[in-house]
Amino acid sequence: MVLDQVNNLSVSTEKILDCDLAIVGGGIVGTTLASALKHSGIKIIIIEAKPLELAAARRQAYAFSLLSGRIYEGIGVWQKIFPNIAKFRQIRLSDADYPKIVKFQTKDLNDEYLGYVAEHNIVLTALQEFIADCDNISWLCPAEVTEVEYQDAFATVKVNINGAEKLIKTKLVVGADGARSRIRQWAGIKTGGWKYWQSCVAFTIKHTAPQNDIAFERFWSTGPMGVLPLPGNRCQIVWTNPHAEAKNLQTMDEGEFLSKLSQYTGGLLGKLELVSDRLLFPVQLMQCDRYVQSRLALIGDAAHCCHPVGGQGLNLGIRDAASLAQIIQEAHTLGSDLGSLNTLKHYEAWRKRENLAILGFSDFLDRAFSNNWLPMVILRRLGLWILQYFQPLKIFALKLMTGLKGRTPQLARY
Ligand SMILES: Cc1cc2nc3c(=O)[nH]c(=O)nc-3n(C[C@H](O)[C@H](O)[C@H](O)COP(=O)(O)OP(=O)(O)OC[C@H]3O[C@@H](n4cnc5c(N)ncnc54)[C@H](O)[C@@H]3O)c2cc1C
Repeated sequence: MVLDQVNNLSVSTEKILDCDLAIVGGGIVGTTLASALKHSGIKIIIIEAKPLELAAARRQAYAFSLLSGRIYEGIGVWQKIFPNIAKFRQIRLSDADYPKIVKFQTKDLNDEYLGYVAEHNIVLTALQEFIADCDNISWLCPAEVTEVEYQDAFATVKVNINGAEKLIKTKLVVGADGARSRIRQWAGIKTGGWKYWQSCVAFTIKHTAPQNDIAFERFWSTGPMGVLPLPGNRCQIVWTNPHAEAKNLQTMDEGEFLSKLSQYTGGLLGKLELVSDRLLFPVQLMQCDRYVQSRLALIGDAAHCCHPVGGQGLNLGIRDAASLAQIIQEAHTLGSDLGSLNTLKHYEAWRKRENLAILGFSDFLDRAFSNNWLPMVILRRLGLWILQYFQPLKIFALKLMTGLKGRTPQLARY
């Protein structure tokens, strides 16, 4: 994607670009925000540090909620994504080797699927193509934001493009620049949270099990293990362990690793073959003190991060993007200032509390299951039993996991 795309924006001098919205970070969350505002009449520049192909090339797959699917359907990009992702019809929760398994099925929700598993490159490439050649959206890429200055009526974003400097004058800056957001740090926004005693090893396997439409979350006392189906009899596995054990899993001999994996997946997947690197991620919980200030809003991992148990992080970010798009669009239609604190407070009030609930839920799951303390073992197994047989609780938990609780963005209501 090319630099001279900035030409379709009003350039007031050679070095200064004018726009309504500057999105810093062209990951899935930032690009979703731009896609949701396609043809809105709002002039948008997305600034992404990596070349677009490289940004999309990340080897990761995500559990994708029903709500995220509906948001993409509302945006109009779902038909590009849906054929290339896995769909699951069952979710199974189990506590180590305890034989009682909680099974969530499509009939519990009266839906065709309970969720999807999407690879990073499939989603981000579809979004990039969706907004290519769009009159109101331009990329600065590869380009890095090096400084932002906030004034009352606008913000100025300094961008480095191959050593050359450009300035963007904008009504609103959106930080979608990930967990280590510099946009957040430069604005002096504080964060709360903690680092876990665990890391995740994430990888892809091929297997020989005949069925590949079930998502598993198996809780071991060392940490949860998520097994997500992918097209082509593959699975994405996210295996949480204390740091040293996770590091050991990453580096141990492949044969030994696969035999341990087979044991921890209960042999359910048949013969296993490792088809990716084993990537190591430390795990953290983080929430910003505030999501907004005058001329600035944070979305996605820039605003919050959670434990990967339950596969919620990206889904929260997609929901942030859809909610913020709605608020910005409404302000633009009414002729209000889309970067004013007044406007942006609506976004914060909507999303901060909802995100906190999911952060708390994922933290509770990890803490309740990652131990061998007998009273807790008894309590959680009782909890699983109740979850399996008490239908209202089961449906509540399922709606929470699939994103069907909380306020639904307009884009997902059709
Ligand atoms: C092991 C693991 C498994 C996970 N599994 C799931 C799952 O199953 N389901 C789920 O929903 N979530 C999952 N998550 C969480 C998910 O990965 C994140 O929530 C998501 O990737 C965040 O997306 P983002 O767009 O906010 O940030 P990022 O993906 O980090 O994108 C930020 C972008 O900003 C760019 N950038 C950064 N700084 C600058 C700058 N100064 N100038 C310009 N550009 C910049 C970067 O190049 C990048 O492209 C998982 C996380 C982990 C670690």
